[in-house]
Amino acid sequence: MEVEGRKVEIFFFPFVGGGHLIPMIDLARLFASHGVKATVITIPNDITVFQKSIDRDQQTGLDINFHALELPADATLQNVDMSAPPMTDTSILQEPFKQLLIHRRPDCVVTDTFHRWVADVIDVIGIPRIIFNGNCCFARCCDENIKRFSPHKEVASDMELFVVPGLPDKIELTRSQLPIFVRTGTEFPGKSMRAEQNSFGQVVNSFYALEPAYVDYYRNVIGKKTWLVGPVSLCNRNLEDKAARGQKATIDENSCLNWLDSKKPNSVLYVSFGSLARLSPTQLYEIACGLESAGHPFIWVVGKILDDKDKENCFPDGFEERILDSKMGLIIKGWAPQLLILEHESIGGFMTHCGWNSTLEGVCAGLPMITWPLSAEQFYNEKLVTEVLKIGIRVGSEEWASWNMERKIVVGKDKVKAAVVRLMGGGVETVEMMRRAKVLAEEAKRAVEVGGSSFNDVDALINDINN
Ligand code: UDP
Repeated sequence: MEVEGRKVEIFFFPFVGGGHLIPMIDLARLFASHGVKATVITIPNDITVFQKSIDRDQQTGLDINFHALELPADATLQNVDMSAPPMTDTSILQEPFKQLLIHRRPDCVVTDTFHRWVADVIDVIGIPRIIFNGNCCFARCCDENIKRFSPHKEVASDMELFVVPGLPDKIELTRSQLPIFVRTGTEFPGKSMRAEQNSFGQVVNSFYALEPAYVDYYRNVIGKKTWLVGPVSLCNRNLEDKAARGQKATIDENSCLNWLDSKKPNSVLYVSFGSLARLSPTQLYEIACGLESAGHPFIWVVGKILDDKDKENCFPDGFEERILDSKMGLIIKGWAPQLLILEHESIGGFMTHCGWNSTLEGVCAGLPMITWPLSAEQFYNEKLVTEVLKIGIRVGSEEWASWNMERKIVVGKDKVKAAVVRLMGGGVETVEMMRRAKVLAEEAKRAVEVGGSSFNDVDALINDINN
């Protein structure tokens, strides 16, 4: 792909934090595989962690590199590990980023909207800017129409259902499931309307066949210029790529795979709440009881804990020893090689917080899900999974709360057990969900192959930049 005799160059400027950084790196790798010169702009720390994600691409001759922004002397960026929260202030990167743009003048910059200052800097220099915010079209349509029509203001209580107006399906939510900034009618801190309005368009990690009615609605009714290029995680084609994704796993990949090899096909539930969520010890305790009493094998990724002081009380007495001795479960405290695990034939279900990356990775692995949304746009994603795609069941999470807030409502062990038994018990309902999920997984693969809808959208975007 060339412009005026040289390669098209695109900068990818991810936000800090796993759910944003990981797919943006995949996105850059995807564009590099379409002949673009792809440069991921980041901080020195991240290069140490992520260089291995692009090593093999570089060895095969793809034009992809990291560029580390130099921080001013004595300056540090706070809280930038894989669980960095959305409010992390990155403005310290503004000046080095601006200088880099002036010096290199790429043909386009793909940016994350959580860099709150970035639109102004790019627009003044006059380089086309594309937004990547990590969501699907379904969630964007819900969000737009709730903001436009305020149906949540018509109900008498936080737990009463309302219909999201105008959508292709009847989608019902409660006020308690809405992000606090949607409930109160304030803009999400850091997302300015102007950033969206003046952009060249939006690149979306989804594929047309997954949510056709919502892609059409988002493009034609809501009127957003959109390229669907996903699932971006599918650019991780071999074991090394999958093992190297994100940060170094807390568990040795081989021992994890060996453990899975010892289990029957489709028998293991994978439980994870993503890179950011912090659950309380009380909630973790209920999950432990529910998983143990359901009696199905599981891998449980226990991430960061909301109140670390109380972490001794996360599990019932003797839980870890019993699980380990009976080989019923594997507990990963820290980072799991999620793609490797999801695609193993012993995995038969995914209990997920419905972060969009995880949801899509579950779809790509052809897995039915137990949905347990917590924050961000996860309650919308739950509706897509359970009511539109019909490949999941709800655990019964009712309350949106920010990643670092104590929740008023704990999901009890009985609900956890009931959902696990229902999904993993092998009934007709699960077989049908699994069949549907496998069809979607095949369609996802077709979308990113030569001539597929996402493959063509990547080329279309590159052409649009050229013209
Ligand atoms: N992830 C992983 N191992 C973990 C936790 C998360 O590989 O132990 C990856 C996961 O595969 C996904 C991303 O981190 O790509 C999490 O993104 P998601 O949108 O699902 O949730 P978030 O972390 O943003 O809440």
